[in-house]
Amino acid sequence: MNLLPDLPFPKNEPEWAYKPGTPEQKELARVLAGHEVVDIPTVIGGKEYFSKDTVEVRSPHNKSRVVARIHRPTEAQHREAIENAIKSAADWARLPFQSRAAVMMRAAEIVGSELRTRINAATMIGQSKTIDQADPDAACELIDFLRFNVFYAQKLMRENPLSTATAANRIDWRPLEGFVYAVSPFNFTAIGANLSTAPALMGNAVVWKPSEKSALANYIFYQALQKAGLPAGVINFVPADAATMTKVALSSPELAGVHYTGSTAVFRSIWAGVGANMSNYRTFPRLVGETGGKGFVLAHLSADVEALAIALVRAAFEFQGQKCSAASRAYIPKSLWPAVTKRIKERLAELPVGDVADPQTFMGAVIDKASFDRLSARLKAAQGDAEIKVIAGGTASDEVGYFVQPTVLETSNPRHALMNDELFGPVVTVYPYDDAKWPEMFALIDSTSPYALTGSVFSTDPVALHQASQALVNSAGNIYLNEKPTGAVIGQQPFGGMRGSGTNDKAGSWMNMLRWTSPRTVKEAYIAPTQWTFGA
Ligand code: NAD
Repeated sequence: MNLLPDLPFPKNEPEWAYKPGTPEQKELARVLAGHEVVDIPTVIGGKEYFSKDTVEVRSPHNKSRVVARIHRPTEAQHREAIENAIKSAADWARLPFQSRAAVMMRAAEIVGSELRTRINAATMIGQSKTIDQADPDAACELIDFLRFNVFYAQKLMRENPLSTATAANRIDWRPLEGFVYAVSPFNFTAIGANLSTAPALMGNAVVWKPSEKSALANYIFYQALQKAGLPAGVINFVPADAATMTKVALSSPELAGVHYTGSTAVFRSIWAGVGANMSNYRTFPRLVGETGGKGFVLAHLSADVEALAIALVRAAFEFQGQKCSAASRAYIPKSLWPAVTKRIKERLAELPVGDVADPQTFMGAVIDKASFDRLSARLKAAQGDAEIKVIAGGTASDEVGYFVQPTVLETSNPRHALMNDELFGPVVTVYPYDDAKWPEMFALIDSTSPYALTGSVFSTDPVALHQASQALVNSAGNIYLNEKPTGAVIGQQPFGGMRGSGTNDKAGSWMNMLRWTSPRTVKEAYIAPTQWTFGA
């Protein structure tokens, strides 16, 4: 029985300002200062397991500070998590939609109120986000995912085929058969919440493997789900070794879907793993993956220089450039470049990098040593590269934490590897182009990088905007006109890309909900035919 609620289009959760001296800012400072090491269990079928086989989580901006210990599952528990999900699936699927939706709406309320400060603080401490980056992610976007998914699911479930005078036709929105494996990245606390709950809302049972680098904040969300009354076993929280858990999940005949966000290379390996196990599955697993990006910014000669410079600074350096949508390559007319450079340098001179607990900080540290080492190597190589000029930044230090200075590079080679590879750090490379070559930029942008996630075009000339938007039709799943390429809002800019950027199933929209249901068509004849002849 699915009684559909009639919920209105939700409002986006408003951000809290956290202005100095406000009660929320004082509370945040108290929670940040009082944070003690959290033991994060594996949770299977509602039972918490502290295996003592632990991995330490350290603060990226203060690498000597341990903030959490993840208790890895034992070998047997990898399989147990799947068995539990399958066991819980039938009861959960039988619950009417409104009961499942109520759990999600309750979780949204809990995150928005009693857990808001804790989940924001955990995102700051564990992932090195400033509060200006943490609240829109760990509170607002997370809450939006929960509420909008409910709205879109109810909308979807109202879709029915044509009925006639002699028969009723309807769609039964069943969950997939088996379990869904959710694998989430470190860079948005909200994404882990969406990857696990979107399939669950549609009636599926889930094994959720969070990133160990965001496990602290992800575990707080899991606690919100428990408080909200999510039945045991519907979402199993398994902060396991990624390769081990994935191998077990992909080799299960009951795998019904993978809901993934992270790097392209890992998604390709998951896809290959599914392919290798294809003959073992009971059903064809749904594969949904939102992956890497190489966001571009294209400026026309008519662009507003101030707006362009601000967009570059914000989109390249907010959260240390660790957004799939970050501005990572830019194409700017040569005649505008000196003015843009001047403004970027002025902004960078006043942009503080440091401990995210300090309200003045704009940029924290990159996530871990591996990321720091990778970025440092690229910066070092850039220093001695004849095709690269360092305009700003270019240095890094890991004395206290993994700090990489906001870096602007200029290249004379538009096909340089820095214009192609996802760096996932605070580095943007700019190709100043001959003003007359505007029409040539479209094919160049389209063919330079394997990704197609985000892009921006800046111009005050509507003809140029239209031209670029048309020519770049397959270069990005989300294109922004006179706006930076980051900051998609649930319900406003459904998000996702193609090519190397993923399956473009638009997280937080009805398109994503559709992937977690396997519709059954039901025809009920009012009077069964009793004649075998046609036309009788
Ligand atoms: P990552 O690929 O390192 O990890 C993502 C997840 O995969 C984690 O849970 C990790 O533990 C797991 N994983 C790692 N190795 C694995 C393996 N061998 N088998 C199975 N799972 C494995 O990515 P990350 O560093 O956490 O996140 C950054 C990446 O995510 C960037 O490439 C970024 O562009 C992408 N991202 C994309 C979007 C989007 O919407 N397109 C959003 C956020 C992040």
